[in-house]
Amino acid sequence: MKLTFRGVRGSIAVPGPNTLRYGGNTTCLEIRGDNNELIILDAGTGIYQLALTLFGELPIEAHLFLTHTHWDHIQGLPFFIPTFIPGNTIHIYGAFDPVGQKNIRQILARQFEYCYFPVREAELKATMRFTTLKERQTVQAGGVTISNILMNHPVLNFGYRIECNGKSIFFTGDHEQLYNIYAPEEDGWSEYQQYVNEKNKAITDFMHGVDLLVADTSYTIQDYPQKKGWGHSTFDANIDMARIAQVKSLYFTHHEPVRSDNDLERVYQEALERKKVAIHGPPCHLAREGLTIEL
Ligand SMILES: [Zn+2]
Ligand SMILES: [Zn+2]
Repeated sequence: MKLTFRGVRGSIAVPGPNTLRYGGNTTCLEIRGDNNELIILDAGTGIYQLALTLFGELPIEAHLFLTHTHWDHIQGLPFFIPTFIPGNTIHIYGAFDPVGQKNIRQILARQFEYCYFPVREAELKATMRFTTLKERQTVQAGGVTISNILMNHPVLNFGYRIECNGKSIFFTGDHEQLYNIYAPEEDGWSEYQQYVNEKNKAITDFMHGVDLLVADTSYTIQDYPQKKGWGHSTFDANIDMARIAQVKSLYFTHHEPVRSDNDLERVYQEALERKKVAIHGPPCHLAREGLTIEL
């Protein structure tokens, strides 16, 4: 199995001189199975970079799994060129919207409405197949198995576990480790704490032992107090999570748009030293646009 980062930025694309080394495009991961199956995780602006590499292998069959449908995870989708070309088959998977009562096709169709985009979804030339996933529903794409678990974010967000021939990847999408919303002296604290512990454990059990964990690491521990509850995690919390889950390596992604390459490297190094990663592991890395990892 092979993973290539096509977009590693959170919230908004930030091209420019300050993001040249790690990249300015928003979330998109390309995963290839051992038979070259094409699995795409999220359709941020990075999916356009991926599209440009696919012309040599048309027609394609792509399996696009959306962690959730916040803009930074879908904004590149209307510009995913293979959808305009007959002969391609694009399978799109994602969660139900319980507030708007919409399935994944209905959610995405709005992106293609007249006032937002000149091409309607019905006019796309590729064969489009939509699947609204239930939690822990498993999908088989050739020799690749994709399963999911609900994470913690202010919309339904699936974390995906991808497996192929004994190798495994877990991608959190956007995720903040659960915490107790009650003060210890309040009624409900202990009951809620039990829920928090169970849910956090279910998540670390689900990603247990993966070769590669890719985790939303928007914040530093200094940023976090002002941003608690926004649905994103810190370097420190992800290192803790990776240790509990006994993953073999950890890649930090969803870099804050305000962070320059230099700032990103500085806060990353500080976290590694604070958490004594050199001694206790796991091996940690910053996700970088264009970086390919072979498993
Ligand atoms: Zn995001
Ligand atoms: Zn989000």
